[in-house]
Amino acid sequence: MFSRVGKWAAGMALLNSVANADRYLTEIEELIMQVKRDTDGKEHISWKESITEKLQHSKEFSDKVKHELLIPRLGNHYSYHDAMVVIEQLKREFPDYINVSSFGKTYEGRDIPLIRLQKGNKPTTDRPAMLLTGAHHAREAVSIQMPFYIIFKFLHGALHNDQYYLDLLENVTLYVVPMLNVDGVYDIEQTFFQTADHVMKRKNKNDSWGGKWLCGDDTYTGVDLNRNYGFSHGNFGAKEDPCSESFSGPFPFSEPETRAMRDFIFKHVNEIKFVYNFHSYGNMYVTPFNAIAGDLLQDAYPTQFALFEEILDEGHPANQLKVGTAHDLLGYTSPGEASDWILAATGIAAISPELGTDNPATNSFRLDTPELVIDVLDQQYPIIEKTIEKLQARLEFVQVGHADVDAETKEFSFTVEIRNKGLKDMQDFTIMSAQASVEARFDDPHIQ
Ligand SMILES: [Zn+2]
Repeated sequence: MFSRVGKWAAGMALLNSVANADRYLTEIEELIMQVKRDTDGKEHISWKESITEKLQHSKEFSDKVKHELLIPRLGNHYSYHDAMVVIEQLKREFPDYINVSSFGKTYEGRDIPLIRLQKGNKPTTDRPAMLLTGAHHAREAVSIQMPFYIIFKFLHGALHNDQYYLDLLENVTLYVVPMLNVDGVYDIEQTFFQTADHVMKRKNKNDSWGGKWLCGDDTYTGVDLNRNYGFSHGNFGAKEDPCSESFSGPFPFSEPETRAMRDFIFKHVNEIKFVYNFHSYGNMYVTPFNAIAGDLLQDAYPTQFALFEEILDEGHPANQLKVGTAHDLLGYTSPGEASDWILAATGIAAISPELGTDNPATNSFRLDTPELVIDVLDQQYPIIEKTIEKLQARLEFVQVGHADVDAETKEFSFTVEIRNKGLKDMQDFTIMSAQASVEARFDDPHIQ
């Protein structure tokens, strides 16, 4: 009898949460859709508040534009459904730029949305790509908004005919996975419907490796996706306690979400030149290798190390941005981390920034005001845009050799070293002509 009452109570709680979810979805639908009547009297549904209209609102990517697009009506961060509605809107409104497909399935069987942003049909062999992911850790809310900010910024540039963004969209591809840990993000939203609290869920929803009865609270079950990759997996006790916030899972890629990452990266290995895996919080540019203490990166991957240095140099990062490995910056190692594995397995430069600013108020998984959210996104964006710009091939003079003048003929020659400082391969590059006209001025009194 007692257990029947218990079941009945659980059933009521479930019904209640479904009702709350339904109410919320109805609100979202009312917000974004309206019934339109065609001239022939037929009714059809159309999107009410279009992203296009919001982007067209001002030629500047202004605070008003950012707030309207990135701050939802309820709260300061995107919920699961906020993100899904925006993805649907992007797909409908920007068919020339946006393609949406499934990156893979989660443990609970949800699709992980993959957004591809590009323009035109330039083949992938001639179009370097970047992969950007958010929410390896579900509670790191601003890491979901960061990839959307980048998409909006590029579409805003394209809509206002800014040649810089139009050129990039024609020549590079951005693959965006705003929520890798979809189940965790969904769980936070659904729990909010029931309790009005945002649970601090970090890991995925797979409790089949243990912990179901042990951890006490569903918040602490699951696998830490950012410890589940195949570089230094499971070291330092990461796979011993299934209730630990950094439980690695029993073996590398035991989770469907990380397998989706692995399979996508291997499939696009010749195309992808850089990966950003966004996290929060902190104000840190976290470089590989996070599984170890020490500077393996500079010695083992000097090219990628130099690339990170260039990006930091040219991207004019936010105030007080800290750079280094997890051990350098946080004092702990992260075995099985995503960017470590990507670099070690493929040579692709990969980075795991902890998004934030030098304002201590941004040191939180959920920020207190919309202004703090926009400030984090604004300050982190330039360095990412600089990285996207570097995807293309870019030739630069790095050294002009000394010119030796022939005393009799007065002729001279010199060598010029040109280097590709972009990430796109240059194997079919040829110098067509080396003819030049030189006008020499000899202002120095010692030259006669
Ligand atoms: Zn994280």
